[in-house]
Amino acid sequence: MPEAGRLIICATPIGNLGDVTLRVLEALKSADTVLAEDTRVTRKLFSRYLITTPLERYDEHTAVRRTPEVIERIRGGETIALVSDAGTPGISDPGSILVDAAIAADVLVDVLPGAAAVIAALVASGLPTWAFYFAGFLPRKAGDRTRLLASLAPLEATLIFYESPRRTGATLRGLAEAFPGRSGAMARELTKLHEEIVRGPLTELAEQISERELLKGEVVLLVGPPHWGRNAAPAPIEPVDASVVRARVAELMSEGTARTAAVKQVAKETGMSRQDVYDLASRP
Ligand code: SAM
Repeated sequence: MPEAGRLIICATPIGNLGDVTLRVLEALKSADTVLAEDTRVTRKLFSRYLITTPLERYDEHTAVRRTPEVIERIRGGETIALVSDAGTPGISDPGSILVDAAIAADVLVDVLPGAAAVIAALVASGLPTWAFYFAGFLPRKAGDRTRLLASLAPLEATLIFYESPRRTGATLRGLAEAFPGRSGAMARELTKLHEEIVRGPLTELAEQISERELLKGEVVLLVGPPHWGRNAAPAPIEPVDASVVRARVAELMSEGTARTAAVKQVAKETGMSRQDVYDLASRP
């Protein structure tokens, strides 16, 4: 029996080549092969850290075709590491097909965590981190984009989007329209020489960024939650149907929640005051 191979998912820097972990460097050095999205990009990391492991291309165009062969090689005993051009493979990058196939084939998968633009941008934005929703790249078709944004509007979470610099101005205008009154941020070129984080009301961000002639680099856009205290203006609270409030309180109580706790929770869910929820729930 050959020794068991494994698949190692390696996070690499999103700009600054210093942002790589010791475990990742060790894994890249000792793997039999490293699969890379663009081998020219990964060679820069390799030359900085004197890594000479053979590199092969594995990108969005080759992922489906190459996956069965890669899994077979791991089953045959090879240790294969996967990297993307930047950050964590699988996060808006090739990787998840391979991980899924490895799990289905009972192949060992190690994930070595590290940089991901979504996390760096969220923390740098100063927006709430207690709940966040990463939506990746927005759909290109206007209708799909509008539907998606509408579905995200009620979420009490910071929303995070990846975007190309070319579309950033237009996307910010779309976000300002879809999420009136909310604050947001743009994080550009994180960890790089020209890193920039702009924070403020979405309307102001949209205006400020649209005025720029040419926006360069890589961009993450963020939108604060609807009822966050530091929004430009409090988000309009939708009028809530009294029967819905009563039914929700009754539902929570039937699940064993005490009346006061149920009222408190429904107040939180609807944005109503506890007194108003209590009054509605008490009415026959
Ligand atoms: N796998 C990567 C990760 O873990 O973040 C994401 C890859 S995705 C193809 C590329 C997008 O990530 C860019 O368009 C941009 O939205 C974001 N991104 C990557 N590096 C960035 C950086 N240094 N600063 C800001 N955004 C970045």
